[in-house]
Amino acid sequence: MAERRTVELGRLSWKEVEQLVPSNPVLLIPVGTVEQHGQHMPVNADNMVAGFVARRAAEETGAYITPAINYGVSMAFRNFPGTISVQPATLTAVLRDVCTELIRQGFRRLIFVNNHGGNQTSCEQVARDLHREHGIVMGSIYPWNLGYGLMRDTYDDAAAVYGHGGEPETSAMLAMFPDDVRLDLMAGRDPIMNGAFKPRRDNTIEIEGQPVGGTIYLDFDELFPSGANGDPSVGTAERGQIWIERVVGYAVAFVKQFDNATASVSWAKRKGDAATHSAG
Ligand SMILES: [Zn+2]
Repeated sequence: MAERRTVELGRLSWKEVEQLVPSNPVLLIPVGTVEQHGQHMPVNADNMVAGFVARRAAEETGAYITPAINYGVSMAFRNFPGTISVQPATLTAVLRDVCTELIRQGFRRLIFVNNHGGNQTSCEQVARDLHREHGIVMGSIYPWNLGYGLMRDTYDDAAAVYGHGGEPETSAMLAMFPDDVRLDLMAGRDPIMNGAFKPRRDNTIEIEGQPVGGTIYLDFDELFPSGANGDPSVGTAERGQIWIERVVGYAVAFVKQFDNATASVSWAKRKGDAATHSAG
């Protein structure tokens, strides 16, 4: 194999991909969605961040990234212009087809870099189906969710500012894509009562006398008309740099561990039906 000139599978010719297969690289599959993220963030934010983290992780580990799957399950946001949602069954079918084609060509070490909660069920279903059918073990990295877990100590009260289009998402976007954050349009912290429901965030409402919230399936705009919750106004690019260091650092550690753990296992070595191509 020639010296690696890119981490993007989609920039290689079929000849280069053919040469890549025997080295059995880990492939990162970015998965996102097109959905609103408050008045100040772009509707492509989930995809942009999935791609950013996947690329950094690939560059630092020897993994490759496949062309991304940019449409996901965002039905709760469909009343906001710019949101483009697909049905869960559609995403599941696309994920299954893409992974099955990669496996057929001999790539057997696959990790989703899925950056949207509504896609999690489809990712898990496909991973479990492929585990059963092909013996492979897939991984999944969820950048936004990692940020929630890894950034708590940087806030006085994380729970008060965390949210969809709130923090730490706004800080992360300010650090990664400053030109795409419209601070002048920012709004947030606008939960409205919906009947007897008092929203916490997303699908979660207060249950009287209970410390743990309850789940409710309203559309997002029925609780948060601006599209954001939490408090995006405390977002800074400086904090976003910490997000990048920690989330990318985690993703790199995950991919390295997955790589080490699967380098010599039998299910990863097994050859698929090699892609045959009659050059003409
Ligand atoms: Zn999302």
